[in-house]
Amino acid sequence: MTTLAAEIRARIAAEGPITVADYVARCAAHYYAARDPLGRGGDFTTAPEISQMFGELIGMWTAALWRMLGEPAALNLVELGPGRGTMLADLLRAANVMPPFRRALSVHLVETSAALRERQREALAASGAAVAWHDMLDTVPEAPAIYLANEFFDALPVHQAIRQAEGWYERTIEAGGDGALQFGVGQRCDDVVLARLHHAPAGSVFEWRGEAAPHALATRVARHGAALIIDYGHARSAVGDTLQAVRAHAFHPPLADPGTADLTAHVDFEALAAVARRAGARVHGPIEQRTFLARLGIVERAAMLKSKATPEQADDIDAALDRLTAATPTGMGRLFKVLAIADARLGPLPAFDA
Ligand code: SAH
Repeated sequence: MTTLAAEIRARIAAEGPITVADYVARCAAHYYAARDPLGRGGDFTTAPEISQMFGELIGMWTAALWRMLGEPAALNLVELGPGRGTMLADLLRAANVMPPFRRALSVHLVETSAALRERQREALAASGAAVAWHDMLDTVPEAPAIYLANEFFDALPVHQAIRQAEGWYERTIEAGGDGALQFGVGQRCDDVVLARLHHAPAGSVFEWRGEAAPHALATRVARHGAALIIDYGHARSAVGDTLQAVRAHAFHPPLADPGTADLTAHVDFEALAAVARRAGARVHGPIEQRTFLARLGIVERAAMLKSKATPEQADDIDAALDRLTAATPTGMGRLFKVLAIADARLGPLPAFDA
């Protein structure tokens, strides 16, 4: 039994079942605290780890936003959940071709994991950028900023409701007769679900997240700036149980060995967009990742890199391009969506509205 499993069982024995969101929060805190989960030797691989093109193209988008903001001499670049820091390292290297933009950037990283902070420090050392770390968005200065979040929101705690004959109930985690963790049925919660969904057969699962994190982000960008949110998920709110655990690049039962696998659920982009609009921000997208990357010129960028590559490197570039943009079930092109939320005064944004 993992230490976290013992802790969770003690909590359930003392105070009763916990919500799925509480379970996910406990698992994420434990999971990320001490390890680097990314890459081949870890549990999962993200877009910036697949190819340098990803961070470079996000850099082009960020530079375009800087121009739209009037080329300020100082701009905060804030990344939520930067992992190994790879995306930002690629972005900053690409930004060197535009010295006034590069010089304007101060980097702020929102990261709770001590292990990953260390990886980020190493990855960004060569860039020479001034970097400040934060546990939460709250302590990042409220200056004009561009916020980036790749595979961040999927890891935030998610609630689940389950449809019974008479209504919706919050799903819980309880201890079974043998002590193993299992799903249970908690408080009635029609109010949360019915606002978005009217008809769903018994047994349906609906997922939602707390609004504090996206609301705080949207309130900031509504005043001055923009945020780019990239994640896997659905463009419209819908029923479906998407809670999944991944360990060593394979699915793992989400309630087994808590805290030892990456526990995530789809991002509901419709819900995220609604929170952002309520906070006064303008919403752009979501669009599919393949569309976003194509509009930023990933095909041309790949061709450019291949022109200087060995045949073996060229094959790697083609494979990365395919993985990032393919509309197949294993590709990231369609499953991953990109949403921008911005100060309404900015108008149309590159890759979204043009
Ligand atoms: N963006 C990176 C890493 C994605 S993994 C990439 O694309 O490769 C999720 C990241 O979010 C990790 O860096 C993890 O430590 C961080 N994270 C997870 N929950 C967090 C929280 N509540 N607050 C801050 N960071 C968090």
